[in-house]
Order: sequence, then C-alpha cells, then structure tokens
Amino acid sequence: MDDCLFCKIINGEIPCYKIYEDEHTLAFLDISNDGIGGHTLVLPKTHTQNITTVSDGDLNYVMATVQKISKHYIDDCGFDGVNILNNCNECAGQTIKHLHFHIVPRANGDKIGAWDLKSLHNLTLEHFREKLKLQN
Ligand code: AMP
Ligand code: ZN
Repeated sequence: MDDCLFCKIINGEIPCYKIYEDEHTLAFLDISNDGIGGHTLVLPKTHTQNITTVSDGDLNYVMATVQKISKHYIDDCGFDGVNILNNCNECAGQTIKHLHFHIVPRANGDKIGAWDLKSLHNLTLEHFREKLKLQN
C-alpha cells in the first residue's frame, strides 16, 4: 500500500533495525526505544489493517513469528518475560494502519506499566457475558 509507513519499511524504502525476516513476516525494533530496550514490532508483509481483516494464513505466520521472537528473547537474550500487545483501531491506540504486534521485553522488578487498566463502569460480569458471548 502506497501511503503505509510499514509497507515502505517492508519494501526497503525506509530503513529499520531488523530483528527477523522470513517469507511472510518482518520484525524490527520500535523506533521509541522505550521500556528496558528491545521493544519489537512483528507484522505480516502483506498489507492489512488489523486483526479483523488479516487472512487466516498471515495471522498464523505472524503469531508463529511472535512466538519465535518471544522464545528467543527469553531463552537466549536474558529477558525474564515479554508483553505481547496489539492496538486495533484508532480508539485503541493504533497509529499505523498495518497490523502489528508489539513485543515488550520485561525484566523482574522493572515496574513497567504495560497493562494499566482501570474500571470505567459499574456493570457485572454476568451482564458482559450475556452481551458478549459467541456461539461456535
Ligand atoms: P501503534 O500505536 O500500535 O500503531 O504502534 C505503532 C508503533 O510504531 C509505535 O510504537 C511507534 O513508535 C512505531 N513506529 C513509528 N514509526 C516507526 C519507524 N519508522 N520505525 C519503527 N517503529 C516505528
Ligand atoms: Zn502496509
């Protein structure tokens, strides 16, 4: 897609700090260089906006790469754990409309607040189960 920053990185028009690449996926360091370092983005090479639009095949490829890199960071690179985050649509914080998963490396005691979720309602779990349940 012509006006997509991540497609330009995939095409080599814009440089990145590449961590891993295969036929279907690319992973590179997030430019923020935040947290304890190593914040990484994993994306499909085929442009798609988000988790609701991605093909089954690309979703499988991307999640396999997320797992591979997470294992590498924990088993080989000295991190104690990772957060895996995805922002879907602008309201959820998605700024670049090409599906990507964030891998945020963690260390014991690092005090990063990667999941700082407060309750903004007074409804019950039962209410939400009735509203949200999905038949298979
Ligand atoms: P999101 O807010 O989930 O859409 O995440 C977009 C991420 O892309 C942010 O964490 C940015 O720091 C990161 N980002 C923006 N431009 C670049 C770039 N040129 N290279 C690497 N990461 C980038
Ligand atoms: Zn794109």
